[in-house]
Amino acid sequence: MTESNTQGRGTLYIVSAPSGAGKTSLVKALTDADPKVLVSVSHTTRDMRPGEEDGVNYNFVNQEQFLDMVANSDFLEHAEVFGNYYGTSQSWVESTLRAGRDVILEIDWQGAQQVRRLMPEALSIFIVPPSKQALQERLDSRGQDSADVIDGRMKEAASETSHYAEFDYLIVNDQFEEALSDLKSILRARRVRIEAQKEKITSILQDLLS
Ligand code: GDP
Ligand code: ADP
Ligand code: 5GP
Repeated sequence: MTESNTQGRGTLYIVSAPSGAGKTSLVKALTDADPKVLVSVSHTTRDMRPGEEDGVNYNFVNQEQFLDMVANSDFLEHAEVFGNYYGTSQSWVESTLRAGRDVILEIDWQGAQQVRRLMPEALSIFIVPPSKQALQERLDSRGQDSADVIDGRMKEAASETSHYAEFDYLIVNDQFEEALSDLKSILRARRVRIEAQKEKITSILQDLLS
């Protein structure tokens, strides 16, 4: 994509992490403080957790509905994770970026690979917990998954983490506020890049250069 036709378009961020590393908490804290960035609400076939809301945390669909959406090419990417399907709405992402808003996708490494291929300008961020023990404690204390599900997620953590080098940025979520500040810095640095600022500061530059 050339620079001229990306003017005014939002930036796409991919955030991945082993389950329980804190990606949902970090992304929520970021978006609560920054109205210019929106999180994509994925479609999933997994069961709703206590406290989750349809259309807010996920769009909860059954397998048949999900496969119909795949057949209709409704997804920018989709993948099977922990035995359930997850997918990102193509039309929502495209229209939101076009409206000049930044978009965050909280997706797994398989989805990250698909999105990078289709939209190489996306910036990707990988989040890790400070240790395996911390990950186990966070999954336990979140208290929303059964022991079996938590075991499965702990087993998958190594395979998810093995993809860390495919990402542009790596954040260690040890102290939450520090990790949040790292995440905010990535967005801030992106917004002061020359190509992102051209439109905004044209009049200042014209004035200074005349
Ligand atoms: P949590 O990450 O432990 O809160 O668990 P979730 O059930 O919310 O997510 C399960 C996995 O699915 C994670 O690895 C997510 O990154 C991934 N995931 C969620 N939404 C999507 C999506 O739209 N597309 C893809 N490819 N993966 C997704
Ligand atoms: P993910 O979306 O990556 O699965 P969550 O955001 O649901 O992870 O976080 C998993 C659990 O860990 C939650 O109970 C959350 O409150 C907790 N948590 C997140 N970050 C930290 C942190 N830096 N220190 C301690 N606990 C954390
Ligand atoms: P959970 O079921 O705990 O909410 O999510 C489990 C995993 O699914 C997380 O690692 C999350 O990133 C991933 N995930 C959630 N939504 C999507 C999605 O739309 N696409 C992909 N590829 N992964 C997703």
